[in-house]
Amino acid sequence: MLRQSWKAHRTHVLQAPTGSGKTVIAAHIVHGFVSRKMRVLFIVPLTVLIEQTAASFMKQGLPPAGIIWRDHPGLDYSKLIQIASIDTLENRTMPDYDCIIYDEAHSRRRWFLEHIQETDKPVIGLSATPFTPWMGNYYTNLIKVATTRELIDQGYLTDFEIYAPHTPDLSAVKTRKSAEFGEDYIEAQVAEIMQDHTLVADIVSTWLQIGENEPTIAFCVNVAHANQVANEFSSGGVEAEVITAKTPMQERQEIFKRFSMGITRVMCNVGTLIAGLDLDVRCIVYARPTKSEIRYIQCIGRGLRTADGKERCLILDHSGTVHRLGYPDSIEYDSLRSDKDGMDTNSRIIKEIERIEKLPKECPSCKFMKPAGMHECSKCGFSPRMGEDVDVDRTRELVALNKKLDKPATKDDKQRFYSELLGYYFEKLRDGKGWKKGWVANQYRAKFGVWPNGLKEFATDPTKETRNYIMSQNIRRAKRKPPGKPVSKEEGLAHFQKIRESLE
Ligand SMILES: [Zn+2]
Repeated sequence: MLRQSWKAHRTHVLQAPTGSGKTVIAAHIVHGFVSRKMRVLFIVPLTVLIEQTAASFMKQGLPPAGIIWRDHPGLDYSKLIQIASIDTLENRTMPDYDCIIYDEAHSRRRWFLEHIQETDKPVIGLSATPFTPWMGNYYTNLIKVATTRELIDQGYLTDFEIYAPHTPDLSAVKTRKSAEFGEDYIEAQVAEIMQDHTLVADIVSTWLQIGENEPTIAFCVNVAHANQVANEFSSGGVEAEVITAKTPMQERQEIFKRFSMGITRVMCNVGTLIAGLDLDVRCIVYARPTKSEIRYIQCIGRGLRTADGKERCLILDHSGTVHRLGYPDSIEYDSLRSDKDGMDTNSRIIKEIERIEKLPKECPSCKFMKPAGMHECSKCGFSPRMGEDVDVDRTRELVALNKKLDKPATKDDKQRFYSELLGYYFEKLRDGKGWKKGWVANQYRAKFGVWPNGLKEFATDPTKETRNYIMSQNIRRAKRKPPGKPVSKEEGLAHFQKIRESLE
């Protein structure tokens, strides 16, 4: 896909989720250049990635690279491949290059974004999460290597199951923008809420009940919170340790070792990328409330690695994040976002309404997060009566958004729409379609956020406008992807083999 669009675009983003082999893909692209004696500048925003990238390029058979990182001894501007820390590079002479590859391209550095606009050479951004709203201002072409759902269906990642044992009230917490994660809650404010003793105790008791004693990473807000959660686990008789960005490499390795051996059951973690990449994690305790899709996906990604005998990763969400952002594999954009994408306010609101409608719903009985539209819980069999599983916050949000669309609907507007829906419904019955009466109430609720109540049961002919509206709703529903057919690992591998052969 990159080759096909190479002439049409100068700037590209490859969206490659965890597990898709991002570095191998990058190495293949780099090889294409160096085999023609062309120069590639590979830039990373996190210094832990420098040695990792250099090592895996060597493993892929690429010649040694020059390293631009503080006073690293590998500095050598004559090499065809240069691997550079973005922050070191800012203060150095730019090496000659024929192409730039920027890893973790969702991470923002102003000087580099300006450089992208100034240079006439191709730039390829790599990211599992190219969701920051400015990316479309600098990159024109989005290529989706694979989606998380595809990788799960093909057996390259494991599936997950999410329970939401607790949802904290974060309505008073303010947000702030960061270079790495976009807009998110202010850490100190969420820490205060999450450090509540009952909440922390709830994490441990839930884990003891349904965590199945699986090897677990608990994502915490800050170091104090991580310590608190680890202590609570320890006093419940569960071996737990804390690992943060500041934990020295040596100590980190020892913790990983104890974790792999099963001595430590729970690693309480602050941050995202620092968790060991190759660890067999089968349960994630998510106790770090976030608004950032990037942070959320990166954390959950730690649990989706495949391992022998691992059927799924259990996710215990104590932060309200699944309620807010949905399933991690449902976060998909068809294009890069930008502040000049020409979307009007109404389209934005409609998109947001669609997103909220697709969010999973909590089973009131067992707290399993059911996919949108599932009535009877697939885990415990509980069927809520009408109104029993209404998410009040969500309904309120939908009503507020719908109100923003145009002026608020009056009682007469509502009756008119309801009568037209009835009219449309009877039309369908006359045509011999076996529609259910519940369709009317559902359509009504989709528009107004509440069930029809106190309205007169008379039907009128639907106007053209209402017919179009119903049509657009139907199209929207039809567009929703049906659940993917499970594909065996063998089939997946055969499929990839075919792709590989076609590339060679
Ligand atoms: Zn249930």
